[in-house]
Amino acid sequence: MEHTLAYAQQLDARDELGSYRNKFHIPTQKNGEPHTYLCGNSLGLQPKNTKQYIQQELEDWANYGVEGHLHARNPWLPYHEFLTGKMAKIVGAKPIEVVVMNTLSVNLHLLMATFYRPTEERFKILIESDAFPSDRYAVESQLNFHGYENGLVELKPREGEILLRHEDIEATIEKEGNEIALILIGCPNYYTGQVFNIKKIAELGHSKGCMVGIDLAHGAGNLKLELHDSNIDFAAWCTYKYLNSGPGSVGACFIHEKHAEAFELPRFAGWWGHNKETRFGMRDDFDPIPGAEGWQLSNPPILSLAAIRASLAIFDEVGMDALHKKSTQLTGYLEYLLETLLKNEVDIITPKNPPERGCQLSLQLTKGEGKMVFEAITQRGVIADWREPNVIRIAPAPLYNSYEDVYNFVMILKEELEK
Ligand SMILES: *Cc1c(COP(=O)(O)O)cnc(C)c1O
Repeated sequence: MEHTLAYAQQLDARDELGSYRNKFHIPTQKNGEPHTYLCGNSLGLQPKNTKQYIQQELEDWANYGVEGHLHARNPWLPYHEFLTGKMAKIVGAKPIEVVVMNTLSVNLHLLMATFYRPTEERFKILIESDAFPSDRYAVESQLNFHGYENGLVELKPREGEILLRHEDIEATIEKEGNEIALILIGCPNYYTGQVFNIKKIAELGHSKGCMVGIDLAHGAGNLKLELHDSNIDFAAWCTYKYLNSGPGSVGACFIHEKHAEAFELPRFAGWWGHNKETRFGMRDDFDPIPGAEGWQLSNPPILSLAAIRASLAIFDEVGMDALHKKSTQLTGYLEYLLETLLKNEVDIITPKNPPERGCQLSLQLTKGEGKMVFEAITQRGVIADWREPNVIRIAPAPLYNSYEDVYNFVMILKEELEK
């Protein structure tokens, strides 16, 4: 019974968030059928309300010109502030800890300018051995910029294993912590989907004197996060993956409240981080805004913020509790189908324990040529994601993916593997 289309459709009919699928544009195939889109971890789908939010800013720009900074229906001068509260809720932060600005890799550099302060005794940076390439380039270039070599410490899985063990992360911090200036970890890891206990890592890192930052590119809008309570120093994420805000859209960052008034911390400055009362005086010495806003440089791209605003309205209506609850069930259903129907053909490398993963499952095929199978399912309308050397990443996004999507994907994969 569980292995029928009718059962998947029944789960959809009972799904309290099922109606949200209609609030998104689902890409269509040439034959007019919707794609089985399981790639929200790479580019989230477009909410139908996005156009209206962007349209409004285009109209206000047309009607007001520069006066729109003050007189647009949503004035552009404080526009980023309209996003802060809702974004903070998504990641479990206080508003003063969050700002939407720049893009992810840029924000990582700006945050490292402040929180990576190497000395002769303590200059190393700890990352995952399979960290996202951009993060690795960013930290390597920071090491080089400060004139350090061999400063990268990598968390590697044990021989023959794919996931990192928490006890090994702890042992590394314990052993090398005195030389580590910064711990920068992706949560979840983009490749394996493994979620780390960031609160524990922060505790241990801080006990050794390290700064702790988290890359939440795959976490924001996916995991149930409590950034303030986790006590990490900073985090950064993008908004075009699970946050559905459009290709290359503006990113966001978190700087813990404990640093809100640490004006002595070095930082790169720009006018948008300056005291709002005197920003247009244009004469004063830099006077940073307390909290994350004080790290802003430029006036932000309003059209992109409008798309984020449209998306945040949906997240705010649903709430991360309900979203995460559905996500756990939807991914659990995917796991169940794979384990019962394709046990011998597919290895799920993502952790089995739901709190140690988000919605994504990373699959390795034990039989057949992975890349060929991936191309075959793509031909049949599945949009997923292939990562060298041999992983298919499947991310059912709980806002718009259905149980039927998950069912279709598993059936298509099964048929292709049987060929
Ligand atoms: C998607 C992703 C990026 C992309 O960075 P951009 O600056 O937004 O291009 C970086 N790091 C991780 C971990 C990612 O998943």
